[in-house]
Amino acid sequence: MMQNRQKLFGVEIDAVRMNEAVDRIFRWIDQPQDQCQFVVTPNVDHTVLLRENEQLRNAYRDSGMVLADGHPVVLAARFLGKPLPERVPGSDLVPRVFSAADDRTPITTFLLGAANGIADTAAENIESKWENVYVTGTYSPPIGFENDTAECEKILALINRAQPDILIVGLGAPKQELWTHKFQDRINSRVALCVGATIDFLAGEKKRAPRWVQAIGMEWLHRIGTDPKRLFKRYAKDAWIFPQLVWSEWANPEESDAVTLTR
Ligand code: UDP
Repeated sequence: MMQNRQKLFGVEIDAVRMNEAVDRIFRWIDQPQDQCQFVVTPNVDHTVLLRENEQLRNAYRDSGMVLADGHPVVLAARFLGKPLPERVPGSDLVPRVFSAADDRTPITTFLLGAANGIADTAAENIESKWENVYVTGTYSPPIGFENDTAECEKILALINRAQPDILIVGLGAPKQELWTHKFQDRINSRVALCVGATIDFLAGEKKRAPRWVQAIGMEWLHRIGTDPKRLFKRYAKDAWIFPQLVWSEWANPEESDAVTLTR
C-alpha cells in the first residue's frame, strides 16, 4: 500500500491524520498481515533517543506505522518543509481505536505494562466505557524483565493464549519498541501499539493535560509538573538537543542519519 512518509530525524514518519491511522489499524485487524504490525509514536524524546540508539532506528524501520506524537515534532516537520498533517499521540490513538469498535467489529485487547494493579484498573475502565472492547488479558512485568528469557517467554505465552486483536505495550521508550521488535514474529496479535504511559492514563493513575494546554503545545510542561524528579532531566536534555537536531536537518537535509552534535 502507498504510504506517504516524511524522512525526518533518521527515520520515516507517516504523514497521516488520526482517522487515517485508526482506519489502517482496523484494516490490519480485518486483513491479518504475515506479522504483527506495530505502531510507534515519536515525540521529542524519541528523536533524541533515535540519534544514539541504532536498535531503536531498526525497530522504527520495521514498524507498520510511525505517528508524530508530539507538537514540537509536527512544528519541526513544517519548518523543515516536510509537513505532517497533524499530531497523532499514542494516548489519544488508543481511545479513538476503542471508540471505533462497534457491535459488528468488536475488538479484543491485551494490556502489557504499567505498575502492578494499574493495568487491571485500566481494564475495568475500558470495559465499562467501551462496550465493544474486551480486555482478554493484562500483565505488569517485573523490573528488568526484558533481560530475563523465562519472563519474556511467559509474557509471550500470556499474549498468545489471549490472541488479542490489539496489544497495548506501555513500557516506556525505548523498551517498548525494542521488546516488540525483538518478538514481532512471535507475538500472536494483529497489531501492537507502543504507547508509553497510556495504560496509566486509562487507569486514571496519571492525568493528561487539559485540552487547552494540549492545544497550545504545552503538554510537556504539564507532564514535568506531574513527575518533576524523573522528567526534568529528560526534558532538559531534549530541550538542548532537539533544536540542534532540527538545525542540523535544515543545514543537511540529505544527511539526517549522520549528524554531529554538541552534548
Ligand atoms: N514501565 C513498565 N515497565 C518498565 C518500565 C516502564 O511497565 O520496565 C511503564 C511505566 O509504569 C509507565 C510506562 O511504562 O506506565 C511508560 O512510562 P513513561 O512515562 O516513561 O512513558 P513515555 O514518556 O515514554 O510515554
